[in-house]
Amino acid sequence: MTRRLVLATRNEHKVHELRQILADLVDELGLEIVGAGEVDGAPDVPETEVTFLGNARLKAVALADATGLPAVADDSGLAVEVLGGSPGVFSARWSGTHAGPGASRADVDRANLDLLLEQVADVPDEHRAAAFVCAAVLALPDGRVEGVQGRVEGTIVREPRGTGGFGYDPVFVPAGDTRTLAEYSDTEKNAISHRGTAFRALAPVLRDLLG
Ligand code: IMP
Repeated sequence: MTRRLVLATRNEHKVHELRQILADLVDELGLEIVGAGEVDGAPDVPETEVTFLGNARLKAVALADATGLPAVADDSGLAVEVLGGSPGVFSARWSGTHAGPGASRADVDRANLDLLLEQVADVPDEHRAAAFVCAAVLALPDGRVEGVQGRVEGTIVREPRGTGGFGYDPVFVPAGDTRTLAEYSDTEKNAISHRGTAFRALAPVLRDLLG
């Protein structure tokens, strides 16, 4: 019998990514991964916590409670060392409303990135360390909750480069490389990314709790 596992996002790209990363396990456990838009009663939960794990937990628990299905949620962002870990959980809204009303996601991403570059403009190359972080949480309707995290270390460059990815990808160079994440293919990015690592770390958790 197929059991549904619901992911706390209406973003089809994320649902597809999780299906790909967990393909073997999905077969093994007879799971079907669906997005929040495909189930009845999925709530839109504001991210009011101040940690990635806290926000992911909030969203996963609310979704499991509302749907009666095992639920996975993730929360991610960029932590810049010289900014004390900011933008962190505020990565998606770092520039506030500067992109203007009715701005597209791409406009907001660009405004966030421009503000960040401005803030670290005077920071010398050797102090531009940063990491992308992703927390992923599985919540079951019976109240059990487990969380994992993934991260990728790197540096912030001065000029955006590349057309792939989204968000801060054009200014983030993973440690050991010279290309920005926006110059990676999707497959290359998934192999090293904070989200790829966190979703892969979820596999044994799912096997334990749902197997
Ligand atoms: P969320 O976890 O999907 O809400 O993402 C939060 C924000 O963090 C995004 O809007 C981006 O600004 C940033 N972010 C998260 N993951 C990535 C990534 O893989 N590349 C670039 N930016 C990211």
